[in-house]
Amino acid sequence: MIVTRPYDPSWHAPGTVARSGRCSWHGVKACDKEPVVSFHDASGDRQSGCERAVAELLARGLMKRPPDYDLWRRHVIG
Ligand SMILES: [Zn+2]
Repeated sequence: MIVTRPYDPSWHAPGTVARSGRCSWHGVKACDKEPVVSFHDASGDRQSGCERAVAELLARGLMKRPPDYDLWRRHVIG
């Protein structure tokens, strides 16, 4: 089960997509959103995820619901 933390660029290795402020879960070609979470994926790699990545991982039952997820949704969707 993936446990997230709020997105933190400094948690990611220099030179990575996640460090650069982009969503590494979808990749820069597929996604132009800013990440909202940082997490370890199933391989143990550090990933950044946008709001859509969180929704997908929640829907697939792979991610523990972030405690402030509703707050993010209100912020992003309005
Ligand atoms: Zn994304």
